Amino acid sequence: MHELSIAIRVIDLAEGHLRAAGGGRVATVRLRVGLLAGAATEALRSALALAAQGTPLEAATVEIEEVPVRIWCPACQREVDLPGLVPLACPECGERSGDVRAGGELELESLVLAAEAEDAA
Ligand SMILES: [Zn+2]
Repeated sequence: MHELSIAIRVIDLAEGHLRAAGGGRVATVRLRVGLLAGAATEALRSALALAAQGTPLEAATVEIEEVPVRIWCPACQREVDLPGLVPLACPECGERSGDVRAGGELELESLVLAAEAEDAA
């Protein structure tokens, strides 16, 4: 399952950050996922919940920002966001372009650590 391998990678990355920060637990995980990354948002959410069990991310809220596909339109001379995955053509003028500038992201945008007070409760 594609999403599960992504989720495991995200959690590894987050645990690395936590170790560097000296420990703690994660309250919120923010991800940026491009439409071209091939991960279904809801499947990714479920996979993260599964992969986070027994880790400091177990109780974390997952926020996923979907990044649209962006291409360079040579006719308009600017980058344009596509309303969907296909066609790779400018929604303004219809010019076709395979010059993809964004949409393949799968990034750990940020981590919010749980407050110490919550640990004590
Ligand atoms: Zn155009």
